[in-house]
Amino acid sequence: MPVTGRLTGRVTGRVTGRLAVTGGLVADGTGAEPVPGTVLIDGDRITAVLPPGATPSGAEVIDATGNIVAPGFIDLHSHADFSLRTSPAAESQLAQGVTTLVAGNCGWSPFPITDLETLRAGTAFLGPKHDWSWTDLAGFGATVESAVNLALQVGHCTLRIAVMGNARRAPSPDELRQMQELLRAAADQGAVGFSTGLIYAPGAYASPEEVAALVATAAECGLLYSTHIRNEGAGLLAALDEAISAARAGGARLEISHLKAVGKANHGLVAAALERLEQADDLDVGWDAYPYTATSTTLTTRLPTWALADGALLDRLGDPTERKRIAEALRADTLLSPDSVVIASLPPGPYEDSRGLSLTEIARRDEVDAAEIVLRILENHQAAVSVVNHAMSEDDVITVLEHPRTAIASDGWIMDATGPGHPHPRNFGTFPRVLGHYARELDIFSLAEAIRRMTSLPASRLGLSDRGTIKPGAIADLVVLNPTTIADKSTYDAPWQLSVGVEHVLVAGRLALSNGRPTGQRPGRVLTS
Ligand SMILES: [Zn+2]
Repeated sequence: MPVTGRLTGRVTGRVTGRLAVTGGLVADGTGAEPVPGTVLIDGDRITAVLPPGATPSGAEVIDATGNIVAPGFIDLHSHADFSLRTSPAAESQLAQGVTTLVAGNCGWSPFPITDLETLRAGTAFLGPKHDWSWTDLAGFGATVESAVNLALQVGHCTLRIAVMGNARRAPSPDELRQMQELLRAAADQGAVGFSTGLIYAPGAYASPEEVAALVATAAECGLLYSTHIRNEGAGLLAALDEAISAARAGGARLEISHLKAVGKANHGLVAAALERLEQADDLDVGWDAYPYTATSTTLTTRLPTWALADGALLDRLGDPTERKRIAEALRADTLLSPDSVVIASLPPGPYEDSRGLSLTEIARRDEVDAAEIVLRILENHQAAVSVVNHAMSEDDVITVLEHPRTAIASDGWIMDATGPGHPHPRNFGTFPRVLGHYARELDIFSLAEAIRRMTSLPASRLGLSDRGTIKPGAIADLVVLNPTTIADKSTYDAPWQLSVGVEHVLVAGRLALSNGRPTGQRPGRVLTS
């Protein structure tokens, strides 16, 4: 089908509007089959959805002939708060049709700050290029000027660092109170959620009781509780139970982040996990997933969490006795899976040329075992090493995607068009991969249903009533995409490739992407729910 997608001409008639998206099929985000129509926009809002042929007068036209017009995609699980300020064009997200990024996930947010050095070390794997010129959510939010919207959550690891550093112990009653106060303050400043990352130090040091106390505070403040649960392997179901219990006790809305079963022995477990979540029908519970069979995280997650206590990993690696203890723990742990763990990125140093190689390959080159190579890479690169781990099964990915309550989310961050290392392709391709590969090619659901999982479903999780659907009065965050060409291009071997098929993106009624190219406009806002 021809795709012209140019701003052309003028139309005439009785309804007024500044901008009209004409000629396309409107997929309104509810899952209803796309129908021909014209979306009329005035200022930052949609004013009308007209039948084809209706002709508003005086409107500038975006020709969407042959294309789908959908609400802008809402990425419930992003780490953009560590990269959007320095890549405000968000080209890798606009090329996917994403207009809103929900950040502060997996326990990590760039605020509140009281102990900057510890927070910097803890978040190094997210690649921040921050000047860290703020201390709280309001200060951070004021520095964001971007093409896309950002919604902020407060991370539990960050709260813990602010109050008690990387201490591997329970908080005192006073320390717990301080974390709750910081959480309330962030909520007052517009946070939409509270997140945990219970595999990361220091979040992993928290007992279920500590987490539940903070979840209750989050619920009092009306925040969503998003959780990277304590175990995504053999302990998946018990970890879900912990999350469900905390949400139930505190009365919180619950979001299970990136639902999956990690490790070969645990493949298939997602079916029981979905059943567990369905059974929690007294709760407002949802979950999200990305369409890939590999995870991406920091290499330090391979280590026993005690090795990271007090932020003293590098000191421990410098002590022969402690180093030996860590190596032995690694050798005893099936979590290591050296064949499937590939180096994604690391700061300059002796293992720079290991990007894209598996731990097994690097170990063979150095003629040592995989445990030793993990320690060498960490100690030579300030322990700021991210990895891609090929740990899930395609059957499980499909099982999770097929569930009607699964929202699509990337777990990614903002990428420039080119760069170093081997980042996870989800940063570039999540949404087009679902639309192109899973909907169009594999037909696991219709295009309209795929769009619903990226729009009205995540909007409802966040309580954003004026985004995620195309209707009069809604904010005009829109994507115009070609249903026959939309596709992800980024691969594990060649990740630095933008997706194709997204023609135009409007954010609050302003063109952020036009004819596939960023316009340089910065209409994004920090959203509060
Ligand atoms: Zn996570």
